[in-house]
Amino acid sequence: MQTPELLSDPVYHDEDAARSYLERTRWPEYVHCPLCGSLEKISQLGGESMGPGWWFCGSCKEKFTVRSARSWSARISRFISGCWPSA
Ligand SMILES: [Zn+2]
Repeated sequence: MQTPELLSDPVYHDEDAARSYLERTRWPEYVHCPLCGSLEKISQLGGESMGPGWWFCGSCKEKFTVRSARSWSARISRFISGCWPSA
């Protein structure tokens, strides 16, 4: 997929269009979990509380968006919760 060249392209002005573009670029065929790499059990979340663009991985039970990196923050939070179990 080519990067839109015109600055008038909605990708540069509309948040939904930008997210959709990033999703198509990052996941041209299948959405996969950036945290564990799973292609299965991926479901789209939504609703007003979450906002658009959130996905849920049923394999690692984490939420992510197209902007999620292979997340150290998720690993760190898992590590921390392992060190200090919640009451
Ligand atoms: Zn996952």
